[in-house]
Amino acid sequence: MHRTHTCGELNLQHEGKNVKLAGWVQRVRNLGGMTFIDLRDRYGITQLAFNEEWDTELLEKARKTGREFVIQAEGTVIERSSKNPNMSTGEIEIRCSSLTVLNASKTPPFTIEDETDGGEELRMKYRYLDLRRNPLKENIMLRHRVNIETRNYLSSIGFLDIETPFLIKSTPEGARDFVVPSRMHEGQFYALPQSPQTFKQLLMVSGFDKYFQIVKCFRDEDLRADRQPEFTQIDCEMAFVEREDILNTFEGFLKHILKTVKGVDIDSIPRMTYDEAMALYGSDKPDIRFGMTFTGLNELTQNKGFNVFDQAELVVGINVEGCAEYSRKQIDALTDFVKRPQVGGSGLVWCKYNADGTLKSSVDKFYSPEDLKEWAEAMDAKPGDLLLIMAGPKDKTRKALNELRLHLAEELGLRKPDEFAPLWVLDFPLLEWDEDTARWYAMHHPFTSPYPKDIPLLDTDPGSIRANAYDLVLNGNEIGGGSIRIHDRDLQKKMFGILGFSDEEAKKQFGFLMDAFEYGAPPHGGIAFGFDRLVAILGGKESIRDFMAFPKNNAGRDLMIDTPSIIGEEQLKELRITITE
Ligand code: ASP
Repeated sequence: MHRTHTCGELNLQHEGKNVKLAGWVQRVRNLGGMTFIDLRDRYGITQLAFNEEWDTELLEKARKTGREFVIQAEGTVIERSSKNPNMSTGEIEIRCSSLTVLNASKTPPFTIEDETDGGEELRMKYRYLDLRRNPLKENIMLRHRVNIETRNYLSSIGFLDIETPFLIKSTPEGARDFVVPSRMHEGQFYALPQSPQTFKQLLMVSGFDKYFQIVKCFRDEDLRADRQPEFTQIDCEMAFVEREDILNTFEGFLKHILKTVKGVDIDSIPRMTYDEAMALYGSDKPDIRFGMTFTGLNELTQNKGFNVFDQAELVVGINVEGCAEYSRKQIDALTDFVKRPQVGGSGLVWCKYNADGTLKSSVDKFYSPEDLKEWAEAMDAKPGDLLLIMAGPKDKTRKALNELRLHLAEELGLRKPDEFAPLWVLDFPLLEWDEDTARWYAMHHPFTSPYPKDIPLLDTDPGSIRANAYDLVLNGNEIGGGSIRIHDRDLQKKMFGILGFSDEEAKKQFGFLMDAFEYGAPPHGGIAFGFDRLVAILGGKESIRDFMAFPKNNAGRDLMIDTPSIIGEEQLKELRITITE
């Protein structure tokens, strides 16, 4: 037996017990006639003690071990003289009677500590060492817990875990497919799934009325900081349901996860339409942990001689509570922030509602104190508050003010990682018009059903149709999205038509689904959660990378195994692939 206990479990109750532990050397401290080794494993750290009075040879051996050596030690649990209340094992140490080096280690390229000195690249290259560090280890353990609780919950309410294939034909979800050449079928390719969308719908036709899968999905997109080419979804589908059923089922799911994983109870999840979200927050994934909602000020600002406001499609402001004392410098910094190209604002108007009840603004030339008072009332401001106002084209201005709102919330510490505020966003537009290609695109995907009442508009005004779709937003991040699907062949065919597919193309790409719809397809709908993101938010972070064991870097490379990489001539020949310079 390599060990009788882990490095995280011993305490004074075990005093006097003979134990065997195994793990990695975190630290060796030599103090004259004594040496202490901090022994680490997944469960914690236990202090091993060696003393020249007990055994000089053993002391020598202990001194020779280096960082990250794998060792095994045997000894007796004794009470520590200087206890460490911050450690679960901090009351005891092991008086060692034997020590075996199971494997030596080179000095690691960076320190295996909570705060490491290793740069991003280096840590990616030695990911297996980085994973020894507590913060990453905790993330991976959190991921496991969310995974298990997801399975427990969904299984307990009748969902079946069914695997779907990875070698498939492309599913149009708006991204590029990763393709896999077929050796046996010359010139033909599989595609890796962007999601199991069509398969889960087919499973509904098969009668498995509740399906789920924690599944890898692949999207060949230009990478952004928080995107990964392969990521994991909690993918779900249900038959004989309406939107309300799905919302209730997955409200139950999120409540379960928050309760079991974080010990947090939440009330029922509020709902908001897409239009409301855009008007109040300028975002379809608002962070509702804090206020600062938008107030439209067009009416109150017109015809006072301030051209910028007079000519703007939208004049809109937020009330930053308690910030009337912001200095010139602070406000200038905010103005610079909104003017950044990524934010896209053209400027910022401010109005301070001073503690003494007076109002002062950057546009005092045009607006009287009474005018400003009206703004303050419209924005529910009190003395001490700061009003920030932007103006311009509607969409652009909303987007910029959304960025400013989030930026301020970050600065003011309002985005608390241990607070969870979920929100359903409903009634998205079904279609988006793309100027460049002059055609409609499905905002969600082509299988999404229009809102039942809006179906007649398909022929007259497709742009105004709402989708029977929903997003689940958590702390300003979209953690899930789905829809009630089309289950009628003719409607699906029509939808493909609107999306610019000829009958022939639609048949070629989705013939299997349309065929299935002719054999008794039940009404159905579903949702998929971004598993990595959900775990990251539960861990209080927004970047998903540190919640995956082996992620790719920003350029889509795995630096540890060094891929993508060149393959051999033989392999290329077999696949009949010629690489041209
Ligand atoms: N397949 C969709 C997605 O990956 C989710 C869904 O509609 O269920 O976004």
